[in-house]
Amino acid sequence: MARVFNFSAGPSVLPEVVLKQAAEEMLDYKGSGMSVMEMSHRSKVYDNIIKEAEKDLRDLMNIPSNYKVLFLQGGASQQFAAVPMNLMKNGVADYIITGQWAKKAYEEAQKYGKANAIASSADKPFSYIPDVSDLPISDDADYVYICHNNTIYGTAYHELPNTKGKILVADMSSDILSQPVNVEDYGLIFFGVQKNVGPAGVVVVIIREDLIRDDLPAYVPTMLKYKTQADNDSLYNTPPCYGIYICGLVFKWVKEMGGLAAMKTHNEKKAQILYDFLDSSKMFTGTVVKKDRSLMNVPFVTGNEELDAKFVKEATAAGFVNLKGHRTVGGMRASIYNAMPIEGVEKLVEFMKDFEAKNS
Ligand SMILES: *Cc1c(COP(=O)(O)O)cnc(C)c1O
Repeated sequence: MARVFNFSAGPSVLPEVVLKQAAEEMLDYKGSGMSVMEMSHRSKVYDNIIKEAEKDLRDLMNIPSNYKVLFLQGGASQQFAAVPMNLMKNGVADYIITGQWAKKAYEEAQKYGKANAIASSADKPFSYIPDVSDLPISDDADYVYICHNNTIYGTAYHELPNTKGKILVADMSSDILSQPVNVEDYGLIFFGVQKNVGPAGVVVVIIREDLIRDDLPAYVPTMLKYKTQADNDSLYNTPPCYGIYICGLVFKWVKEMGGLAAMKTHNEKKAQILYDFLDSSKMFTGTVVKKDRSLMNVPFVTGNEELDAKFVKEATAAGFVNLKGHRTVGGMRASIYNAMPIEGVEKLVEFMKDFEAKNS
């Protein structure tokens, strides 16, 4: 068995110990005589799995008791619609456009109300985070929306926008559990789990209870009402049972690693190794303004498309896979999520140094 160093942006690398445990428990989960895939979502044994997953996530993120945690389907993209459907009371929301995912969320919200783009970094292809200290927040905005880590462009917020008292909503799909979060800064956080937590098919919503409403427009589907999901503890219908189980194993792994503060140290160490090399290399350069760099997604280029392609090809052959940049950006991107070991980044940098020496 040869495991590669997988730099995929998502679905992405998972902790090896988690995959091994899942394999061990595949045929007989804790004496139940069946796989987690095969059991009723209403059974006692599954109830323990989902409750424990929620408890571990609450512990890790220090989620206050007046927030609900929902395990849902439909991916992060479905939340682009669910958020405006559920949170627009005045029918107005302000969006900060820092990349493709924020833009998609903004465009989707326009179907349900007035979505304003109050800041954008589209002018320099999303290579920075705009100044968010004094934005033209709408007086009647129901919320301000951000994408906390921009998976495609490799930027992240290191300071939150001044929302002038409005509720902050964040898509944290690609940096959840990578560092501590003060949940109380947000009205709602959501994340598709397939970047940093588990297999595709689960999206988690963390929502302050007072934002869960019943007085929604008649067109809002039952399944997309947070109230439906909250009242039924994410078990209104069959949840993505197996995916939630894997998420639960990953939550335990993050706890064992020392929690979010330790995860942050681990991620900073990895990112620094790569960014330090990019800053010293004569061939490779990072594409993002330094102060806005992401700890999770690191895009870089050589400035020569043929050389980029050669690099990706040779890296793949050497066991460093999924380094090709997003189709809209080109170049390369190394996604170095929680489960990427330091060794993976160290070896990648060695390989890059060697490639540079041979090709310049
Ligand atoms: C991947 C990603 C999405 C889309 O997730 P889906 O689950 O495929 O809908 C949305 N936002 C961010 C920040 C992402 O990284």
